[in-house]
Amino acid sequence: MNLDGAEITVLGAGVAGLAVARALALRGAVVTVLEQAAAIEEVGAGLQISPNGAAVLRGLGLGEALEAASMRATAVDLRDGLDDSRVLRLDLARLRPGQGYHLMHRADLIDLLATGARAVGVHIRLLQRIETVDLAGPRPRLVTAQGAELTPALVIGADGLHSKLRGALNGVEAPFFTRQVAWRAVIPAEPGAAPVAEVHMGPGKHLVSYPLRGGTLRNIVAIEERMRWAEEGWNLKDDPMSLRVAFESFSPKVQGWLEAVQETWLWGLFRHPVARVWHRGLPDGAVAILGDAAHPTLPFLAQGANMALEDAWVLAAMLSRHDPPEAMAAYQAARAPRCAKIVAAANNNARAYHLGGPLRDLAHMGLKLGGWLAPGLALKRYDWIYGFDVTHPGHPAH
Ligand SMILES: Cc1cc2nc3c(=O)[nH]c(=O)nc-3n(C[C@H](O)[C@H](O)[C@H](O)COP(=O)(O)OP(=O)(O)OC[C@H]3O[C@@H](n4cnc5c(N)ncnc54)[C@H](O)[C@@H]3O)c2cc1C
Repeated sequence: MNLDGAEITVLGAGVAGLAVARALALRGAVVTVLEQAAAIEEVGAGLQISPNGAAVLRGLGLGEALEAASMRATAVDLRDGLDDSRVLRLDLARLRPGQGYHLMHRADLIDLLATGARAVGVHIRLLQRIETVDLAGPRPRLVTAQGAELTPALVIGADGLHSKLRGALNGVEAPFFTRQVAWRAVIPAEPGAAPVAEVHMGPGKHLVSYPLRGGTLRNIVAIEERMRWAEEGWNLKDDPMSLRVAFESFSPKVQGWLEAVQETWLWGLFRHPVARVWHRGLPDGAVAILGDAAHPTLPFLAQGANMALEDAWVLAAMLSRHDPPEAMAAYQAARAPRCAKIVAAANNNARAYHLGGPLRDLAHMGLKLGGWLAPGLALKRYDWIYGFDVTHPGHPAH
């Protein structure tokens, strides 16, 4: 399809929505983003952008903005949370030339994507909560919370875990609790903090931390297994003391960080299975979903936003080449197997990170041994994730 002048409506101004909006606008489309919030904001927390996501940002012409807003990580360190000994190091200096692993504030990523989208004419409309998505007619029909009715021909749902479009395509189902909760906090970083993403593993819980914003801040995500989430909402402001108590068996280094936490929020981690249906062609229109709307994941591989960036590139590329129903089918065929594999690998990491008892000692010993014998191998095991570049001329989606 020639995207020049094609009108496309995107639901949601998160990573997926803003990235696909810029990708489509760069190919000539006239894009409107409908966002429910009153302002484009993100929670105060960090994000790891791995080489596969960074490649998309560079492909979208945002490489310089990414470098300016992020820190390049030198390693991902898996550590024993209890005694702080190193279990395995992914030495990121071994990445291929040109690849970078970035640590950044979420708000900075959203800001660079929103600025990048607006710069190519994307119209972002705030306070536009879509309450109903109806796919029974010739065109998608959207009804906003204010009762306004819209019937754009092409709609892309980047509306996250609680996506209305996902429900319209797959039937409405409540997301399920993954039996994991996450505290998030940002503290001042210690001077000279190395740009390393540290994963501190303990029985039934783990904690991820890395510096942000030129090493002035330190991001903390602390995960704990819980049988149920009894709260009304998806998150709640929590007492930093509950976080300290939950991780009191961890090393003095971790406890020192947690002592500095002044404010924290606790999230119940919910998800859906990877959606069965990602798109539909209508007599006079078409719809597709991407990002968390299509494949919400546990954050244990730090790939949710990276997959959303890959989706955005592939969907825009397919739409520029084929008519919408065919483009969207090709998009799902290209993306669904990879996303399902990443989601499954993130689930496996939950088990591996949270081992207890003799199994834990055995697993740590195996990883340590592997790291000593073949230090390059650890990173190679992630090549299928980090080495995947949807923007590369050799990639089918280019
Ligand atoms: C603790 C934690 C740590 C993480 N760390 C990483 C990491 O390091 N790296 C990584 O790649 N990923 C990470 N992730 C995952 C990542 O945050 C998500 O996968 C990513 O943000 C999904 O982006 P999205 O745009 O698809 O959805 P969202 O960010 O949820 O955006 C959806 C947007 O749509 C809007 N919206 C929703 N419903 C409506 C509606 N009805 N009408 C209008 N607008 C609507 C919302 O307001 C929002 O702006 C982490 C997740 C968690 C929980």
